[in-house]
Amino acid sequence: MDDNCLFCRIVAGEIPASVVHETDTTLAFRDIDPKAPVHVLVIPKDHHTDVAELALNDPKAAADLLAAAAAVATAEGLRGDGFRLIFNSGRWAGQEVFHAHGHVVGGAPLGPMLAG
Ligand code: AMP
Ligand code: ZN
Repeated sequence: MDDNCLFCRIVAGEIPASVVHETDTTLAFRDIDPKAPVHVLVIPKDHHTDVAELALNDPKAAADLLAAAAAVATAEGLRGDGFRLIFNSGRWAGQEVFHAHGHVVGGAPLGPMLAG
């Protein structure tokens, strides 16, 4: 655990979150500033700075994260009309929290894949 990491602190129970799904290796909770009717963050419990670090250092946990995202999409009723799974990675992608996380977004038409 990284004491300075917001999402590590959520995993540790030090900061509250609206948890919707949990496994041994993953946690999913609602984004505090939702950009769509459904906006859930899916994270590995272990600290990795982004999805590339996660996949390279712990492929099993990366697979668990994808399975958790699919479970969330199913539980939130997004499989019929569709959803996006977004991993902002690094500065140019606008990553704000440097603990790997996928955004599961859906519940309405999401528009073009990229702004501009
Ligand atoms: P990113 O820009 O991909 O790093 O996404 C970080 C996300 O974390 C943003 O969508 C924020 O709204 C979200 N966020 C920040 N703090 C919290 C929190 N305490 N609980 C839930 N989501 C948060
Ligand atoms: Zn962390």
